[in-house]
Amino acid sequence: MKISNVSFEFFPPKTPEGAEKLRGVRARLGELDPEFFSVTFGAGGSTKEGTWNTVMELHAEGRPVAPHISCIGTTRGSVSELLTGYRAAGIRRLVALRGDMPSGAAGGAGDFRYANELVEFVRTETGDWFHIEVAGYPETHPQSRSPADDLARFVQKVKAGADSAITQYFFNPDAYFRFVDDAAALGCPVPIVPGIMPITNFMQLARFSDACGAEIPRWIRRRLESFGDDRESIRAFGLDVVQQLCERLVDGGAPGLHFYTMNQAEPTAELCRRLAAR
Ligand code: FAD
Repeated sequence: MKISNVSFEFFPPKTPEGAEKLRGVRARLGELDPEFFSVTFGAGGSTKEGTWNTVMELHAEGRPVAPHISCIGTTRGSVSELLTGYRAAGIRRLVALRGDMPSGAAGGAGDFRYANELVEFVRTETGDWFHIEVAGYPETHPQSRSPADDLARFVQKVKAGADSAITQYFFNPDAYFRFVDDAAALGCPVPIVPGIMPITNFMQLARFSDACGAEIPRWIRRRLESFGDDRESIRAFGLDVVQQLCERLVDGGAPGLHFYTMNQAEPTAELCRRLAAR
């Protein structure tokens, strides 16, 4: 597998210790020559400074980086300011999202209601300067009206000006292939890169999955539960399961892999090592 087709996602660290740890993590993952690193953005601008600082550190190190920007709680003015800053710094890629309200409620205060409006705004303000990524949901966004409506909204968002898409993580590869086929049938013109969540901690994974609507298949959930506090078994099983998932995706034509690293170099590095060794 071509290792240059991977990208790695970080969240902005909250403490100086976290920032220091992340420097080591990105140095390690940087050795894998990713297409880009991305840095998440907390709803309502809660990580505005942290996202900016992390993006600028990566950029100063000469690493390709894509800040996430989101709609919730933002105004045209605040987004415009952010775009101007990123553009002046020479950043060329963005991940444009709606974001989530802290309560999980749909919509939210701010000038943009949905990500397609944000994509349109970025294009109007900055032309073709940014490569824009948007989010896709092979297992359907949890707040959508229906799978068909969600798919149509996704394609509408892409057509508003996105260059490529990254999916929510999933463990059912068939859901991804079906999503890609259905989006293509609606005229989606861009590559859709699967998001990959390494498995390291069952409780955390279960919590995230409940919140974002990603299904943990029963057989995986039962096996992980059975390991209890045995972290080594969780790690070994998680690596095998996610490696097989990645192999199926790549063999089936996925145009790349986007890893939700959770700011850890391992196991993402180990998964990439295994995939490169095939
Ligand atoms: P949208 O595309 O706006 O869709 C949101 C919902 O509204 C969907 O149910 C959709 O069907 C519906 N919808 C879309 N457009 C319309 C329309 N025009 N009219 C009516 N309904 C519509 N969250 C963060 O807060 N910060 C991050 O940094 C972050 N990074 C992420 C990175 C990736 C790769 C992914 C997959 C998710 C990320 N998220 C992040 C989570 C994301 O913000 C949430 O999943 C959010 O609930 C939806 O964002 P979206 O951009 O997909 O929204």
